[in-house]
Amino acid sequence: MQHSQAQQHGKHAASTRPETASAKSLMDIGTRRIFTEDHDLFRQNVRRFFQEEVIPHHNEWEKAGQVSRELWEKAGEQGLLGVVIPEEHGGIGGDLLSAAVVWEEQMYSNCSGPGFALHSEIVMPYISNYGNKEQIDRFIPQMVAGKCIGAIAMTEPGAGSDLQGVRTYAKKDGSDWILNGNKVFITNGWMSDLVVVVTVTNREAKTAAHGISLFLVENGMKGFHKGRKLEKIGLKAQDTAELFFEDVRLPANALLGEVNKGFYYLMNELPQERLMIADMAISSSEFMFEETRNYVLQRKAFGKTVAHLQTVQHKLAELKTEICVGRAFLDSCLQLHAEKRLDSSTASMAKFWASDLQNKVASQCLQLHGGWGYMWEYPIAKAFVDSRVQPIYGGTNEIMKELIARNIVSQK
Ligand SMILES: Cc1cc2nc3c(=O)[nH]c(=O)nc-3n(C[C@H](O)[C@H](O)[C@H](O)COP(=O)(O)OP(=O)(O)OC[C@H]3O[C@@H](n4cnc5c(N)ncnc54)[C@H](O)[C@@H]3O)c2cc1C
Repeated sequence: MQHSQAQQHGKHAASTRPETASAKSLMDIGTRRIFTEDHDLFRQNVRRFFQEEVIPHHNEWEKAGQVSRELWEKAGEQGLLGVVIPEEHGGIGGDLLSAAVVWEEQMYSNCSGPGFALHSEIVMPYISNYGNKEQIDRFIPQMVAGKCIGAIAMTEPGAGSDLQGVRTYAKKDGSDWILNGNKVFITNGWMSDLVVVVTVTNREAKTAAHGISLFLVENGMKGFHKGRKLEKIGLKAQDTAELFFEDVRLPANALLGEVNKGFYYLMNELPQERLMIADMAISSSEFMFEETRNYVLQRKAFGKTVAHLQTVQHKLAELKTEICVGRAFLDSCLQLHAEKRLDSSTASMAKFWASDLQNKVASQCLQLHGGWGYMWEYPIAKAFVDSRVQPIYGGTNEIMKELIARNIVSQK
């Protein structure tokens, strides 16, 4: 519904919508040819949501190391969760670009606490794409409503980049499975009601990748324990946790998709995660640029504003140019992914390049704030520490280069 309407508007509006580079602010609503007036209306609502429901509470959530459950349910009521999940699977039935609006507005609010994007565009697609009817009916509507918080547990203390090194193991016992192992660095882990757990199911497979399956593990299952909320240098309001599985008895219906196909499912879904990280990286860069532009325009030094200094002006010119170049590539990737044409190697390029740019922008924008940039009360300080993880999770940028390079050398 939203899709076809959006496409119609899109054709009409494309010629008149300014691109980011020529907009007054890099965060303006009504810009970028990939979006339509329907997206603009949705964006206004999402922006209002972050301004009214998230920003006023974020400091308190940073101290608590997590957001509130109430926030999740409010986000569900406003249609911010599971935007791309088809209606027949209990989702909102929106397009990918609407989901991107939620990612972008979160970065424009500079509030990294809510793990909405991971819940909606990483965890839910596994259930929607590989789950059976019973699993979809049971979990998706609850997840869309924000009453069931999702997490995905791949990483282990001894296996991060090398997912084939996973040790968590599920052993068949009649029609059940017995799960043992532990996971670390799990986003939404502490608050999670449902975790997609990457598990070895065949230790004798010809390669480790052929012996991995995905299981749906629910909070409260006997033997499933959550460790402490991990103390991080950034993402202070995001609950990142360790998870422990001790002889957790899982019914046959906890298996997601087919047995030993888990690695294949992961490879299918990871490009969307990488695109999402990249779009959030460019959006954060846009936010940091505007924050810094405002700062240097009012900060005085040597009798004039800092913005009068030519070195500062040139720095802003460089940053704006790089951010707009990045935005153009990202918008192209978003459009391709909306048409299901984004390949995995291009998603890796976007993730690596955009998250590196975000860190460069963070460092240079903080520098332009002088000592105040180092103070937690200044938004740029928070954006700086939050940006540091982006080249690490979702597959490190070194791994992204491996994937890009593999594609380059195998094409000849
Ligand atoms: C805040 C946060 C949230 C996270 N959320 C989740 C989550 O929700 N779910 C989840 O499963 N995981 C999550 N992770 C884990 C994250 O995906 C991993 O930390 C990441 O994949 C890297 O794995 P590692 O930490 O084991 O590093 P390692 O794999 O030990 O890597 C160490 C270094 O070696 C480099 N390296 C490794 N292999 C190669 C190679 N082949 N070539 C070149 N360099 C290489 C890496 O790039 C890195 O620089 C999260 C992490 C953080 C910090």
